[in-house]
Amino acid sequence: MSQRSNHLPTAQMQELDAAHHMHPFTHQADLNAKGARIITSANGVHVTDSEGRTMLDGMAGLWCVGVGYGRKELADVVSRQMQELPFYNTFFQTSHPPVIALSERLAQIAPDHITRVFYGSSGSEANDTNIRAVRQYWANLDQPERTHIIARWNGYHGSTMGGGSLGGMKGIHAQGGLPIPDIHHIDQPFWWGEGAEQSPEEFGIARARLLEDKILEIGADKIAAFIAEPIQGAGGVIIPPSTYWPEIQRICKEYDILLIADEVITGFGRTGNWFGSETFNITPDIITTAKGLTSGYIPMSASLFSEKIAANLSETDGEFTHGYTYSGHPVAAAVALENLRIIEDEKMIENVRTGAGAYLRDQWKQLSDHPLVGEAVIEGMMGGIQLTPNKTTRASFLSETGSVGYICREFCFANGLVMRATGDRMIIAPPLCMTRDNVDELINKAAICLDLTHKKAKNDGHM
Ligand SMILES: *Cc1c(COP(=O)(O)O)cnc(C)c1O
Repeated sequence: MSQRSNHLPTAQMQELDAAHHMHPFTHQADLNAKGARIITSANGVHVTDSEGRTMLDGMAGLWCVGVGYGRKELADVVSRQMQELPFYNTFFQTSHPPVIALSERLAQIAPDHITRVFYGSSGSEANDTNIRAVRQYWANLDQPERTHIIARWNGYHGSTMGGGSLGGMKGIHAQGGLPIPDIHHIDQPFWWGEGAEQSPEEFGIARARLLEDKILEIGADKIAAFIAEPIQGAGGVIIPPSTYWPEIQRICKEYDILLIADEVITGFGRTGNWFGSETFNITPDIITTAKGLTSGYIPMSASLFSEKIAANLSETDGEFTHGYTYSGHPVAAAVALENLRIIEDEKMIENVRTGAGAYLRDQWKQLSDHPLVGEAVIEGMMGGIQLTPNKTTRASFLSETGSVGYICREFCFANGLVMRATGDRMIIAPPLCMTRDNVDELINKAAICLDLTHKKAKNDGHM
């Protein structure tokens, strides 16, 4: 079968897209004027557009395609499951083989105290589940005032009413009446941007202590939970200083605050362990997962609950009045199981930790020698490079934040590399199946694009 499918000419598809398709998180008028980039096929770590141009996908789609594109096993499992049982609900005291097998598997790979799973179809839905779950947990313990949840500025937890509220993106809060009541935000552990004269270690402690300050301000007896991503993804791949997570964990324990680790990105191998919680040595009460759970081949999310919380919600009088039509969808569950099998059988987590991942980290960090790069950070297979006109003073560009990042991103597309920009920070989270050759391709292209960006940023007066 040919890689290229039959499709309309690009210009015609762009016109139809502009007329009828509303894109998520997109300035629609700008896009419509320019025309969308149309991706028509993909294989391994590469995607191909409607003009036949191939790019290395440094973002694994949207952080999700862990096992890479074109895995026939996943297509086969969909076909098989659709013929056997395409749908059945899990509401009315029923279950089905794929969701039973997946739940057991997730309980196996998750940290020991995590035993039960509640399903949704997206990370946003999973976090909405988590908000209701932690509040109900305390209500069941006769502490119904514990409704407040602390999260972080520049965190990302989705864009539903709940997920968008937990997230600390001001642009999201500005629309639709967010955040919902009793959600609070503290500052992020972003040393490059906000650490000023402190060492990263001092800064990590200081930012963690903001949690303690907020708890004391609101009153510990009113707080349900703290939620955070082990590494902020959409916020720019912000890897916290080594002192941050131990201090957060201490504070949560000391004040008996539930900890939710949003591992929608860091789950399923991205940081070199099954979960980022292992990488950062934390013990969350709930782990949010989605994206890598199915490698994005089909939508599915899972809230992984500790026995303590699950037992509370399952075994107190009455029911947890929550669920989605597609909770535990059989086709999604079958894909997730097969995806986890591929990750394990093909040793993709080892590949991240000691294989091509180790090589990628070594090469990526060397990009910090580039005159335009302030820091090049990477954990497992997620990395960020901060663009700056002056790495000693950690300065910003003369132009509006994001202008130079945008230039770099456009050079990347033009040179066959998908790299995302958040502000003036370039980020990658490539498929976990990367080979050393793929790493060489990624690094070579990134280096070329940094050179081009540097030249243009100087010529156009950004620095
Ligand atoms: C993508 C993401 C979400 C939201 O997932 P959706 O499936 O887009 O709703 C939540 N949390 C984190 C950390 C994410 O990266």
